[in-house]
Amino acid sequence: MLEKIKALSKSYAADAVANRRHLHTHPELSFQEFNTAQFVANRLKEIGLTPQEGVANTGVVALIEGRNPESRVVALRADMDALPIVEANDVPYKSQNPGVMHACGHDVHTSSLLGTARILHELRGDFEGSIKLIFQPGEEKIPGGASLMIKEGVLQNPSPASILGQHVAPNIPVGKIGFREGMYMASTDELYLTVKGKGGHGAMPDMLIDPILIASHIIVGLQQIISRNRKPAAPSVLSFGKVIANGATNVIPNEVYIEGTFRCMDEEWREEGWKRITKMAQGIAEAMGGSCDVEVRKGYPFLKNHPELTRRSKAAAIDYMGAENVIDLDLWLAGEDFAFYSQVTDACFYRLGTRNEARGIVSGVHTPTFDIDETALEIGPGLMAWLALEELKMS
Ligand SMILES: [Zn+2]
Ligand SMILES: [Zn+2]
Repeated sequence: MLEKIKALSKSYAADAVANRRHLHTHPELSFQEFNTAQFVANRLKEIGLTPQEGVANTGVVALIEGRNPESRVVALRADMDALPIVEANDVPYKSQNPGVMHACGHDVHTSSLLGTARILHELRGDFEGSIKLIFQPGEEKIPGGASLMIKEGVLQNPSPASILGQHVAPNIPVGKIGFREGMYMASTDELYLTVKGKGGHGAMPDMLIDPILIASHIIVGLQQIISRNRKPAAPSVLSFGKVIANGATNVIPNEVYIEGTFRCMDEEWREEGWKRITKMAQGIAEAMGGSCDVEVRKGYPFLKNHPELTRRSKAAAIDYMGAENVIDLDLWLAGEDFAFYSQVTDACFYRLGTRNEARGIVSGVHTPTFDIDETALEIGPGLMAWLALEELKMS
């Protein structure tokens, strides 16, 4: 079976690349994946499947039934959305949708899962159980397409025993795969602070309440929460990426806006963090004569890979790829809405190497020069098919 899958994966690789290039050329933003969903549904119909369309608006779900289809179900997930980035790559498949780019590899995940679907559909007489294919919208945007798909019942009728997801990894050489048991990715919450003072002429600070100075103290002060209040062994990050103080050399504004992100891997600390951030920002502002509105927008939960499932998947990947090509991943403080699945069912999220230094393919995800070594699409579809079938054998 393993050799059969490898051969199919290789022979369908050109098709997977063509699908990837089509998606890359026509990227769509989160929750607007209408053409992408249509494309996915059409490809699934061509394979011979009957996709369910319009799940959470632009999601697509399909079932591949093997022998004795109700015996066990494994779900496979791909995300379909792109990012608001202007593509800087000069490639034949460059984005034709200005300002939108598949810079997180979701085109790769989608085309890879289409390839997996083709392989598994072809082999449906050779395995027991069913495979549920989940093509979801809106990974990049709160509340996360995964949470909406779950609300619409994607993990029911039939209910999968486990779910697998993969993500491209521009830091891992193509030909290699990464796994991590247990905690892997962080919860992500967005912070919106409005620091209020009293603006006026920069030459008369004694008459004013300077929100810029208050905001500066808040930004410095809040780092104390990470360095002094958090347990040192518990990973957590607090970063601010946007500060707007729209004054001038001699104009102090009334307000300063600050936006940031708070990440961790512990639900208790997460809630304590929100409280401490709010209290300290408000306290500093008040002590300096101003005030601060703090809004915490709750994002994705942490992503925990089910230990036994991940161990089994890693062992299966070693059979498929060879031990030298399967690596262990570090904790990663990025967020991923696959985390929602991991909260409700056994889940394993692994990384597909896409880096090729010799060819200059090294840019990180979410950058305008992100790209992949497409030979990853010889591996991705077959590997996922193999992992799914190995998982179907469990009971
Ligand atoms: Zn992303
Ligand atoms: Zn992503």
